Amino acid sequence: MIGDRTVLVIQDERMLAHKPDVAEPFLPGRLDRRVREILNGLGIQWNYPEHPGRLSSIINYLSEHPIPGVRFSGSRPATLEELSRVHTLSFLNDIESLRGESAWLDVDTTAVSPGSIDAAEVAAGAAIMATEAAVNREAESVFALCRPPGHHAEPVRARGFCLFNNVAVAAAHAQSELGCERVLIVDWDAHHGNGTQDIFWASPDVMFFDIHRAAPFYPGSGHLEEVGAGWGEGTTINIPLPGTTGDLGMMRAFHNILVPATRWFKPDLILVSAGFDPHRLDLCLNCSYDVFRHMTRLLQNLADEHCEGRLALCLEGGYHLEALTQGVHAVLETLAGGELPELVEAGYPEVDAATKFHLSAFRDDEE
Ligand SMILES: [Zn+2]
Repeated sequence: MIGDRTVLVIQDERMLAHKPDVAEPFLPGRLDRRVREILNGLGIQWNYPEHPGRLSSIINYLSEHPIPGVRFSGSRPATLEELSRVHTLSFLNDIESLRGESAWLDVDTTAVSPGSIDAAEVAAGAAIMATEAAVNREAESVFALCRPPGHHAEPVRARGFCLFNNVAVAAAHAQSELGCERVLIVDWDAHHGNGTQDIFWASPDVMFFDIHRAAPFYPGSGHLEEVGAGWGEGTTINIPLPGTTGDLGMMRAFHNILVPATRWFKPDLILVSAGFDPHRLDLCLNCSYDVFRHMTRLLQNLADEHCEGRLALCLEGGYHLEALTQGVHAVLETLAGGELPELVEAGYPEVDAATKFHLSAFRDDEE
């Protein structure tokens, strides 16, 4: 029942200060010229899709539809030492030099505004705090509402709306400071978590399981054959899927691949890169809200079975506000102990209703 389990949500309004505005002047240079050319070529007014409204609509919806068992906490900025476990110092110095500025970082539309560096430090700090709370059992599960997201950020490069790789910073923190030996990261965002994969590519003690829409969909990586290298060979697991994949396909991968992989790996912490763009309204995959409930419950069960329930989720993508807010709400209800609906193929309930509606027309009265 909802309220049976305790959930901590980490959120902090400093993450709203990251708001690149395309109409504002950016640091001039080659990248700015190229991005301007691309934007002008679109022929429509383009707004930065990873905007503060994503976070504020989640918070507003949660205050209008509170969930028993869910409580809230603020965040803190991640330190240079914490960030440098997964990013190079030269990258971090370059990012630091942009504090207070508006600048483009990549033609894939990654940009910063004057409040962005502070926001990104607080987002990585939220992932760290979520992990500490999960390991110390301050709540039965923890969800960090991180923004900007993190899973595209590489050791030396900001990409795909991401500055620092929040979930990777959290995993490295768990290993360095919290006594966790093996960390499982599950990335269910519809885009491949190229940055997380890159960071832990040769690490045997971090298993990275990523289910996503297959290349050439952004960022173009995450092929089946990408399994890690060296000592880490076998601890990177990619499940590339067609865009038509729905709830049943997603859960088939979780049951048939993630469950045995987790039993083999025996993690002592499970972290989740929770993106909400698999929902069909976001046009990446064809899932409903119910798949988020089922993935969440399966991860709760795996965490209970292998790591004393230690489970922390970090927000990644999700750009359709309705899909994002309802998806986060569905996950939190499940974390709090909510019941699972039966998963059915899209359209089945409608066909059943239509069957009931039409069948009488094909029956003789005496039957
Ligand atoms: Zn995504």
